[in-house]
Order: sequence, then structure tokens, then C-alpha cells
Amino acid sequence: MKSIGLFGGSFDPVHMGHLLVAQAAREELDLDRLFFIPAAQSPFKPELRPSPARARVQLLRLSLAGQSWCEVDEQEIQRGGVSYTIDTVRDYARRFPGAPLFYLIGADHLPQLPKWRATEELAQLAEFVVIPRPGQAEAQFPAPFRGRQLAGFPLGVSSSQIRARVKAGLPIAHLVPCRVAEAIRNYGLYL
Ligand code: ATP
Repeated sequence: MKSIGLFGGSFDPVHMGHLLVAQAAREELDLDRLFFIPAAQSPFKPELRPSPARARVQLLRLSLAGQSWCEVDEQEIQRGGVSYTIDTVRDYARRFPGAPLFYLIGADHLPQLPKWRATEELAQLAEFVVIPRPGQAEAQFPAPFRGRQLAGFPLGVSSSQIRARVKAGLPIAHLVPCRVAEAIRNYGLYL
């Protein structure tokens, strides 16, 4: 049975922290496939209007070029509105019956998990996997979630930091893949 990783987020923009999460998950969980699932609108960032979905998806595609085990799944964008993880995980459970589903989250999201929609069902359908972010304590999974923490490659990069650096005219080389940095420049994002 193939094991499948699901990685949701705003990806505004995708950065090296996200890509190292993917790399760690593939190696440590022996994943066959990993789906990046950009949200239309995060329920936890209602005050933030993300960049257009088209641009976020394009940056993701550029960052994953040549990595055939990774895919971009646009279902949350196509559904529109606020994106709830349970809707997405239900879809994967239906499409890949019996396959182990691993949902990846950064350690900063762990305390929020009990507030996610349909927690009991979500915890039953997917195993949650926490990837360390520097400065975050050891993962404690709130009930009813089960999960594990990866060693990963902790990197203190965030999308908000990238947006702030672009706005301030600071370089983002090595924090995002060079194709992504070039596209951010070409599209005039985050100015
Ligand atoms: P922002 O700074 O805008 O809040 P972000 O960098 O946290 O964005 P998201 O797209 O919101 O990026 O993150 C998607 C997922 O990736 C979340 O689960 C988040 O915790 C995780 N993540 C983001 N950056 C890292 C990182 N450097 N290390 C580990 N996990 C990360």
C-alpha cells in the first residue's frame, strides 16, 4: 500500500523551509507521493488576504519542477472560500482507500489542532506529522490526535519573513529556490 503525504498551507510564497519538510517527510516516512495543497483561505489567517492563487500555485510548480514524487493539488483553491482540512482529507481517504495518510504540519500549528474542524474524524483518517521549527518545544499531540515528530532539517524561514524582505528590498536568495525568487521579481509580488 502506497503511503501518501499531505502538506497544506498558504504557500505565500513556498520557501526552503517547506521544501525541507517535504524532503524530511519523504525520507523518514518512506512516502511514495507527497501532495502540496495550497489553501484558498486559511481559517486561522482571516485577516490576511493571500496573494492570488494562480501565483502561489505557479511558485509551487516552479519549486517542485523535476520532483516527480511531489504534486500540487488545487482542490482547496477550486472549492474556494475558507479551506477546511477535513474536506481535503476525506477526499484522499475516498480516492486512496486503505493507504496510510500522513498530514504534515509545522510545530507552530500543533497547539491549534483541537480547533480544527471535525477533529475526531480527522484524527481517525490521518496521522499527523510534526516537523520542527527552530525555537519550538518538543511536540505534544493534543487528544484525539496521534502523530509523530520528525527530525527534519529545522530551518527558521517563514513566508511572512520572505514577504517582509521583498518589501524591504532585501535579498531572498537561498531562502527560496532561485526560480521562485525570479518569478516573485517578475510578477512584482510582495512589493
Ligand atoms: P506565514 O509566515 O505566512 O505564517 P509559513 O511560512 O508558516 O507562513 P504556511 O504556508 O502557512 O507558511 O505553512 C504551511 C505549513 O508549513 C504549516 O504547517 C507550517 O507550520 C509549515 N512550515 C512553514 N515553514 C516551516 C519551516 N521553516 N519549518 C517547518 N515547517 C514549516
